[in-house]
Amino acid sequence: MEEKKLEKKLFGTNGVRGVAGKEMTPALVLSIGMALGSMRQGTIAVGRDTRTSGPALISALKAGLLAAGCDVVDLGILPTPALQYLVRAHFDAGAVVTASHNPPEYNGVKVVEPDGTEMGDEQSIVLEDHIFKGTSHLVPWDRVGREHTAPHMVEEYIKTVAGAYAQGIGNGVLVAADPGCGAAAWTSPEILTRMGCRVVSINSQMDGTFPGRLPEPSPEGLAPLADLVKATGARFGVANDGDADRAVFIDERGRFIEENRQFGLIADFICRQQRGVVVTPVSTSRLIEVIAHRHGCRVVYTPVGSIYVARTMIGLSQEGTAVAFGGEGNGGLIFPRHQLCRDGGMTAATMVALLAEASQPLSSLVDALPPFFMIKEKIRERDAPGLISRLKKAYAGESLDLTDGIRINREDSWALVRPSGTEPLVRVMVESASETRAKAFYDELIPHIKP
Ligand code: MG
Repeated sequence: MEEKKLEKKLFGTNGVRGVAGKEMTPALVLSIGMALGSMRQGTIAVGRDTRTSGPALISALKAGLLAAGCDVVDLGILPTPALQYLVRAHFDAGAVVTASHNPPEYNGVKVVEPDGTEMGDEQSIVLEDHIFKGTSHLVPWDRVGREHTAPHMVEEYIKTVAGAYAQGIGNGVLVAADPGCGAAAWTSPEILTRMGCRVVSINSQMDGTFPGRLPEPSPEGLAPLADLVKATGARFGVANDGDADRAVFIDERGRFIEENRQFGLIADFICRQQRGVVVTPVSTSRLIEVIAHRHGCRVVYTPVGSIYVARTMIGLSQEGTAVAFGGEGNGGLIFPRHQLCRDGGMTAATMVALLAEASQPLSSLVDALPPFFMIKEKIRERDAPGLISRLKKAYAGESLDLTDGIRINREDSWALVRPSGTEPLVRVMVESASETRAKAFYDELIPHIKP
């Protein structure tokens, strides 16, 4: 069961994104609302992150849905995974106004299916068709939808995540949280508190100007969180992106944990308890394979994008394959027993559970993981398909994975060359356990790309 990427015009890997007032206008979001309302009848949940353009855009989204005859429940400001959780439990579909980790001037829409997953490529293309061809159908006056607000429903998500592990598992544990003034300000500190943790926080006020740091939780942006961890003696620090489907960590020594290593650490915890497949894109560190194999689990690779990970996990489960875990090397992790989408709240909760079991501090657990060295680069390339077929010929004798671009797998290293979906460039990644071997493979590969 493998998900293939299909060509979309408007929707990227995670919904539609653009600069508010330029590409991302109320007119566009209105058309998305009308299109979604034409495709999915019933009661549609909507929500948003904290961005300043959110109120204008969500009003347009609701207008479109109502005019197409859907009832709308506005859940207010909440993390994308909270909306996804609530959609699966209560609604016929959903949409969240967010630009995730993008800078403050951006906004966007992620569309959520009745099962809580983000809309896949095929349905996104149908939705785009409605927008471009103007085929959305509006209902007459006596069939327009009704609007309700339900900002309290996020409580159900908080309760579920906080209750996923034994009661009081975080008792006495000091955690530093940085929700980044985004949607997690509602949820992350509250989840940790209910698990028994003591929580100190920064950037925990909702503010769409993002005064403390950008919505992307980068090592630079998290320097104040690292200082807070060290100053308070916290066991770890946790930070979210703007819509809290991702979480990243700072160890007790104030060091940012690279996201592939975070994935590896949590995969080790999950796979210890449950055997099954671990699903991840071809751009993820081989560390995950090493960890999975330790526990008798195997890795299934997908194209880059969380919807491909989620949909492959669903497909494998439907075939009767046990699926233990999934995720990307950017802090977006999927816990299938909870829900089939990335969840920053559950990621933070799992770190509490993981450390409760461990006899060592987080820094020692991270340092004990096998080393991997990764080189990442973007290279301008107008003819990406031409380049990929040249590479296929040049490396024909090797073990190739063509899931997304071309990945050349060797015993001690791998390289991925992948066309960007949105720009005239290719992304190059090379990884090995040894820095020297990674550099050597990179030096060998580059002349094929830049002859
Ligand atoms: Mg996000």
